[in-house]
Amino acid sequence: MKLLTFAVGLSLGLLPLATPAGTGPQVSPQTRQLHERLLVLDTHLDTPAYLAVPGFDITHRYHHHGSVFQVDLPRMWEGGLDGGFWVIYTPQGPRGETGNRDAQTHGLLRMNQIREMVATHPDAFEIALTADDAERIAAAGKRVVFISMENASPLASDPGLLAAYHRLGLRMLGITHVRNNDFGDSSTDTPEWGGLSPAGKQLVAEANRLGLVLDASHASDGVFDDLIALSKTPIILSHSGADAVFAHGRNRDDERLRALARQGGVIHVNAFAGYLIPGPDNPAHAAEIAALGERYGDRKQLSAERYAAYLQERDAIDAKHAVQRADFDDYMKHLLHILEVMGPDHVGIGADWDGGGGVVGLEDITSLPKITQALLDAGYGEQDIAKIWGGNLLRLLRQAQAAAVAEKAKP
Ligand SMILES: [Zn+2]
Repeated sequence: MKLLTFAVGLSLGLLPLATPAGTGPQVSPQTRQLHERLLVLDTHLDTPAYLAVPGFDITHRYHHHGSVFQVDLPRMWEGGLDGGFWVIYTPQGPRGETGNRDAQTHGLLRMNQIREMVATHPDAFEIALTADDAERIAAAGKRVVFISMENASPLASDPGLLAAYHRLGLRMLGITHVRNNDFGDSSTDTPEWGGLSPAGKQLVAEANRLGLVLDASHASDGVFDDLIALSKTPIILSHSGADAVFAHGRNRDDERLRALARQGGVIHVNAFAGYLIPGPDNPAHAAEIAALGERYGDRKQLSAERYAAYLQERDAIDAKHAVQRADFDDYMKHLLHILEVMGPDHVGIGADWDGGGGVVGLEDITSLPKITQALLDAGYGEQDIAKIWGGNLLRLLRQAQAAAVAEKAKP
């Protein structure tokens, strides 16, 4: 899928610092070749949140030890990441008329920024509206830009806007973020609706009508159960983990994972450290980390040297308090457990890049071939790994869109 990458790089005048087979992590040449052959998609790229950061350039090659940015075009080539879902994330602000209007403006601005990124670099990116689009775009050596929404609050003031978002390219809809909203309960807030609200149930019906995939990551168990019951097509958890490995509201218990598999749905596994292992319960450590953060200010604005210095100081504080950071093995524990519970037809990768994801040994997208290697080591074959990296996701999209077409054709 990436044979043309180098040519695209040349045509952009963006010869990457490393070729696709370049400076990535140590995996065998066979693994690298397998990884290159596959369609590699991640279902939760929070990178659009950085598109408006002054100075951020998606075509510039950043380093994980010198900046907060985890996804850029040269590293997509290096990590063999063909693309995925680029997220319209809206922080949950105050609800009510003013807050909902602010969310509406925020959502539309973010949609514009994603479309602008693609329009500015048409040789490198293309918006995908269907599963076939994704296959075609990746085969042409370009990066696949599916668009999703995390937190449906931009629709709270006018749920009818969902049709407009759909026309602009939206193909996946997540109900909540870390707080409840007008559509339903969050997994990290006090239950308010007991699942989906009446407006949330209407929104689900409208999403089905349009052929969108519904996303239950961040939503409460009640919303998850409602989505399984109400959605006419299989749902997704775009970035979640296993409650059996680490009990946390953001993760799903095995029973629900089995229910998701029975419904035909898919979970894409998150690499957000705080949801993989217990955090340090150490006030002195927390106070020092907070003071460090204040001293350095907005990490997005730091020079490479300053950011590296920040990381060094952060690591020293962790070491002083014997705080263990989540690492690649912790990530694989969640992924392999979920694979065992649900099977390879229902699992994928949604690491939450640029949204807080990334752990020691899986710091940015250049490490993705390591996941392929670990899956091979665990006994999964090419067909399974192809489903995990993209096949399952495309199946979900095809099902959602085919059902919408069939519904429309009814007399
Ligand atoms: Zn999230």
